[in-house]
Amino acid sequence: MNDKYGRKINYLRVSVTDLCNLRCKYCMPEEGVLRKSHNEILSLEEFYEIIKCSTELGIDKIRITGGEPLVRKGIVSLIKKISELGAIKDIAMTTNGLLLEKYAYDLKNAGLKRVNISLDTLNSEKFKEITRGGNLDKVLRGIEAANNVSLTPIKINTVLIGGFNDDEIEKFAQMTIDYNIHVRFIELMPIGHASKWTKEKFISNNTVLKKLPSLIPLEEEQGVPAKYYKLPNAKGKIGLINPISRHFCSTCNRIRLTADGKIKPCLHSDKEIDIKTIIRNDKSKLKEILTEAILQKPEKHHINDEGYKPIVRDMVKIGG
Ligand code: SAM
Ligand code: SF4
Repeated sequence: MNDKYGRKINYLRVSVTDLCNLRCKYCMPEEGVLRKSHNEILSLEEFYEIIKCSTELGIDKIRITGGEPLVRKGIVSLIKKISELGAIKDIAMTTNGLLLEKYAYDLKNAGLKRVNISLDTLNSEKFKEITRGGNLDKVLRGIEAANNVSLTPIKINTVLIGGFNDDEIEKFAQMTIDYNIHVRFIELMPIGHASKWTKEKFISNNTVLKKLPSLIPLEEEQGVPAKYYKLPNAKGKIGLINPISRHFCSTCNRIRLTADGKIKPCLHSDKEIDIKTIIRNDKSKLKEILTEAILQKPEKHHINDEGYKPIVRDMVKIGG
């Protein structure tokens, strides 16, 4: 359905857990997040019912995210059920890749189309530092496993962090020469507990354009936040996602569902609509509450406005 500003909302991003097997500095606090009780988190059946109902409003694209979606038990069977819903044309996942080596084959068989893998550095020591202890080799093996079962095109999401990985832009770009992957540089956003840190480390995606002067712009794709480029003779593409310096609110087609049962009409607003109470007490109102959430989607975010206060919920509890 269309929201109040005429945007067609057809994309639901579903965070199936707020737990994670990494602790990225910009995403979650060092001590991790408190494990919620079983009852506070939506069950797989509840996720399925909400997704199924959302298709009646025109949702046809689903992204499974987290926390780390692959730590949620039963995730493969949920994906299988969603992919069997006739109305869903596209089902993808955003993952840190650590468990892909183990699950890539099952995910593909369950109907998952493709994966976005988050990777901010190609240096093992730096990877350990930014993720507070992660193992880069495992992620690289995960990427290979995803490629082997054709969870493609593989998109690598690289958050640009000033003074940390701006010296690796060329190295990431080089990956697109030999492989048909999309490397997407994402601007660091001020969210949750780490917002002060992220503001200090923010660098605009123009840095990428300066470091890679030979980039060739590709035709704009409708409904995707990334602006794509290509290096001469490259098999893959390079995307720039600029939520801060050039926001894409006017074409935003998404809403989000959190693991604790809230609908977020906009990533950068604290406005949340409780859907857990509805699904547990009065399922007949499910469609109504989803409609209301879509109609409450604001026209744009206000990150660049004077006095903007970052949202309180950490990214790990939203899903990106
Ligand atoms: N654990 C999975 C992963 O890392 O891909 C899925 C969840 S994670 C929250 C989704 C995406 O959000 C990741 O690509 C991560 O880099 C990005 N992210 C987290 N915090 C961010 C921030 N403050 N600014 C920009 N991107 C952020
Ligand atoms: Fe976990 Fe992903 Fe957040 Fe890193 S970005 S802490 S992998 S949820």
